[in-house]
Amino acid sequence: MAVKIHPSVDKGVTPGKKGFKGGTLTCKCAKAPVTVTLASDVAFNHACGCSKCWKPEGAAFSVVAVVGRDKLSVTANGQKLKVVDAGAAIQRHACTGCGVHMYGRIENKGHPFYGFDFVHVELSKDKGWAAPEFAAFVSSIIETGSARPEAMAAVRARLKELKLEPYDCLSPALMDAIATHTAKTKGVLKS
Ligand SMILES: [Zn+2]
Ligand SMILES: [Zn+2]
Repeated sequence: MAVKIHPSVDKGVTPGKKGFKGGTLTCKCAKAPVTVTLASDVAFNHACGCSKCWKPEGAAFSVVAVVGRDKLSVTANGQKLKVVDAGAAIQRHACTGCGVHMYGRIENKGHPFYGFDFVHVELSKDKGWAAPEFAAFVSSIIETGSARPEAMAAVRARLKELKLEPYDCLSPALMDAIATHTAKTKGVLKS
């Protein structure tokens, strides 16, 4: 049996459409669902093994991407949203009805990823979203209880087969972006 990663990639990663213009995310409530509209495609879509991202029941990984916060608007039933942990760097706005995280927002202007919101495009019926490109925080699935340590070689092999290069923190591009921000803040890097 193939190792399960996430329902949206277990049968293979669906490529995105060039020039895709965005769409609507809808929570899982049968009545009065929360909707969030994204006025652009997402970027840095990836599988994430951390314990904080929302994932569907039974999935080892979440699939999460970023979008500019100016491109995101809550378009219906926003009164159902509540921040999961107001103390976290990423404030995840979850539906109090179904528990789905509709978006995660960074309010700290000094954070390297300030200006980006975190979203799950599996909540959209629209087709063409940028595809997941890598897997982050892979080893964390041991901590979340989703995998035993001896299963990790098979998990990483499956991620590679799906062309989701496994990393135990973020991808090099994102780690470099964080380090660049830190270096500029410290004054080590001038321009
Ligand atoms: Zn809901
Ligand atoms: Zn995560």
